[in-house]
Amino acid sequence: ALAAAWREVAGDPGAAIGVPAETPVDDDVLARRHEVLAEVQEHYYAAPPRIERGWREHLIDVNGRVYLDMVNNVASVGHAHPRVVEAGSRQMHLLNTNSRFHYRAITDYADRIAATLPEGFDTVFFVNSGSEATDLAIRLAMAATGRPDIVAMREAYHGWTYASDAVSTSIADNPHALSTRPDWVHTVDAANSYRGKHRGADAEKYAPEAVAVIDELAASGRPPAGMIAETYFGNAGGVALPEGYLGAVYAAIRRHGGLAIADEVQVGYGRLGEWFWGFQQQGAVPDIVAVAKSIGGGHPLGAVVTRREIADRYRTGGYFFSSTGGSPVSSVIGMAVLDVIEQEGLQENARVVGAHLKRRLEELGKKHDLIGTVHGSGLYLGVEFVRDRETLEPATTETAAICDRLLELGVIMQPTGDHQNVLKIKPPLVVTRASVDVFVDALDRVLTTGY
Ligand code: PLP
Repeated sequence: ALAAAWREVAGDPGAAIGVPAETPVDDDVLARRHEVLAEVQEHYYAAPPRIERGWREHLIDVNGRVYLDMVNNVASVGHAHPRVVEAGSRQMHLLNTNSRFHYRAITDYADRIAATLPEGFDTVFFVNSGSEATDLAIRLAMAATGRPDIVAMREAYHGWTYASDAVSTSIADNPHALSTRPDWVHTVDAANSYRGKHRGADAEKYAPEAVAVIDELAASGRPPAGMIAETYFGNAGGVALPEGYLGAVYAAIRRHGGLAIADEVQVGYGRLGEWFWGFQQQGAVPDIVAVAKSIGGGHPLGAVVTRREIADRYRTGGYFFSSTGGSPVSSVIGMAVLDVIEQEGLQENARVVGAHLKRRLEELGKKHDLIGTVHGSGLYLGVEFVRDRETLEPATTETAAICDRLLELGVIMQPTGDHQNVLKIKPPLVVTRASVDVFVDALDRVLTTGY
């Protein structure tokens, strides 16, 4: 019945993208694909789906079965959005090459990105991913200040490249996090107001403690080049930072001549219901912003945005070059994504559908004790499962089983966090109220009937 309901919501996805609903696939190819997928995804699902194509907030497997994709901030404007597809293919016919010259597509797009940020952000570096963006942001801070030390928040994830991995201390995403951390990385406590050492009303204690770490570093003769932090605590499942946190730590960093780096790779571009940016919710403005995921709508694209005087200090003695970062195709795709977000009112959709979804999940929390709390805002939410609401013992195995059951019901979901006990909810921004209702109903059913 659920599958039929899906088809009703999704229409005929094959027809929408001009491909027959079922593409015959060779059995051997299928078997091999299944093997590879199982290896990659065993972390998430007992029996991973064999996905072949996407449409809006839906994914379709090799048998034509339709799933609701509730965990995809890469396909920000929905899978296979026709305007994005068209923009990319048209540019492929014209030109796609390295970024040696200032092609019109690239400079127009850089201007457009800069215009979405607060005044003063006038310089954009293009790269191919979130890891490259945070890595470059760190190098930029080091070069601009002539210092080696970086402050980062514990339990965060910023990427897999050398510098971005070094500041990623999330054990779930990087099992080697602690043993490989170089001595230029200095960590402060994870400002997780739900599960961190200060709970609830004491959450505001995190900022003074982080400021103390920064002050001590400076007093010991190692004033940091900068501090990197996600503006929303993504790894923990979309936990908002305590009010005023970023303002306080940014001020401390700047007091000692360092730079504030905002990792907006997860939440940037409309997910919180505003043009951006977690830092706007905090009323704080960073010096360097790293973005990726959503901006490419599925295409590999990342960017670092900063002010000219910071960029100029980095460029002294050399220049930045990424062969395919912000290529003409990437740039027109990025531009189409921005157009769609604006013209289809997707920020508004994130606000309205996100608020409805959060309300419904909180209602579910009154019925099922396993739901410890619901984090987040807009279309960046987290459902944290605990065995005991007082001790907050994480319901890790239950969360994995719940994801498997949801998958059987056609909903793609994934555990996150250092305890893998949070459902991180980040569907494409085009997700409808009807779709999120199907998700909540499925979750209710799983929690009621067993997992
Ligand atoms: N920063 C944050 C907050 C992320 O969540 C991620 C990826 O999950 C990254 C950076 C790295 O991005 P990518 O996987 O595109 O390299």
